[in-house]
Amino acid sequence: MNSMKIGDKGTQVMEIQSLLKKIGYDPGPIDGIFGKKTEEAVKQFQKDNGLIPDGIIGKNTYKAMEPLLLGYDQYTIKQGDTIYEIAKKYYSSVKKIMTANPGLNPYNLQIGQQIIVPYSIDVVDTDINYTYEVMKRDIEGLKVRYPFLEVGIGGKSVLGRNLYYIRLGKGPNKVFYNGSHHSLEWITSVLLMKFIENFSKAYVDNTKIGDYSPRDIWEESSIYIMPMVNPDGIELVLNGLHKDNPYYNQLIEWNKGSTDFSKNWQANNRGVDLNHNYDALWEKSKEAEKEYGVFGPGPTRYSGPYPESEPESKAVADFTRNLDFRLVIAYHTQGKVIYWNFQNLASQEAKTIGQLFSKMSGYALDETYGIASYAGYKDWFIDKYRKPGYTIEVGKGTNPLPIEQFDEIYADNENVLLVASIV
Ligand SMILES: [Zn+2]
Repeated sequence: MNSMKIGDKGTQVMEIQSLLKKIGYDPGPIDGIFGKKTEEAVKQFQKDNGLIPDGIIGKNTYKAMEPLLLGYDQYTIKQGDTIYEIAKKYYSSVKKIMTANPGLNPYNLQIGQQIIVPYSIDVVDTDINYTYEVMKRDIEGLKVRYPFLEVGIGGKSVLGRNLYYIRLGKGPNKVFYNGSHHSLEWITSVLLMKFIENFSKAYVDNTKIGDYSPRDIWEESSIYIMPMVNPDGIELVLNGLHKDNPYYNQLIEWNKGSTDFSKNWQANNRGVDLNHNYDALWEKSKEAEKEYGVFGPGPTRYSGPYPESEPESKAVADFTRNLDFRLVIAYHTQGKVIYWNFQNLASQEAKTIGQLFSKMSGYALDETYGIASYAGYKDWFIDKYRKPGYTIEVGKGTNPLPIEQFDEIYADNENVLLVASIV
């Protein structure tokens, strides 16, 4: 962690602003710009935590903030402690502590014993640029808070980032949701991560989420979620091109000489559009590239040298081949539309389910034409398995959609995410 101070900019500043706001300070707008108000909020935080109030986030201040970012702290049991008192001290609850520490006997606490204390604040932030690093920490925070979650790695990106998956439930009906094949569409990663958090919370509390009971779904289904298929692309969009990127010069060339990837870059780190890299009429996707002025790696629509040439698309396809899913959804932005067909191979049942999703979300049900209708993940899934597979385009506007649209996007899709696992 580099230290942060007034004048600094970027996604890390944004994260700190969001945290300060969440725990009751006023850092000003969550805009990634470390200004006067953010400095004041940092000073106040430092005072409240017995730190030197210099307004600079150095090692010690970050150390005090890190457990809050993760959403939990480690606590060592002392003489006379009770779980109730610990919960009170941390603004947590007995239930949260018991969930995070399976097997802990509250009537027989051992002095010196280490326990996890989750804070009452949520783990997944929905008001910041959602980078790979943020997601990684959120996954860690959720896994500690909800140890019953299965977290795994489905593969690696070009630059070696993990393609995490999270499994909800242990039932035989397996479904798969993935997000962010396209880097500008990173808001879909937030959608899936928030869903995981809300589902887990409702599971513990034994309450409903949307119109459904997570405990029933848990027995009946297994929901596999890969929230970020293209972490390298998202890094380029949100954090920019870094000097140590091994494709540094090529990336600039592929981006027509520009070092700004924030508004146009949909591809992975090799300039391949991952959602044109699956083996479903891939040759047609290749053929159509010329019409769009695509002659090699670039920000969008380059299908790659051959199907599944990229580690990300290959990992998603392998994951799908290994797990025999009943239904899949690939989340994209934008347009508020649900695509359900491929070359008229989808079944009537797939259409009926699509109509249900459409009714629940308010999104239109449609079919794709032209270059967008080949070599995508759902195309490949339908082609290969003839089972229900969907592309859902959330939100409206210009990509990347502003994070301000998050609440509406989440509300539109929560019941879809639930019903898709049992329909
Ligand atoms: Zn997309």
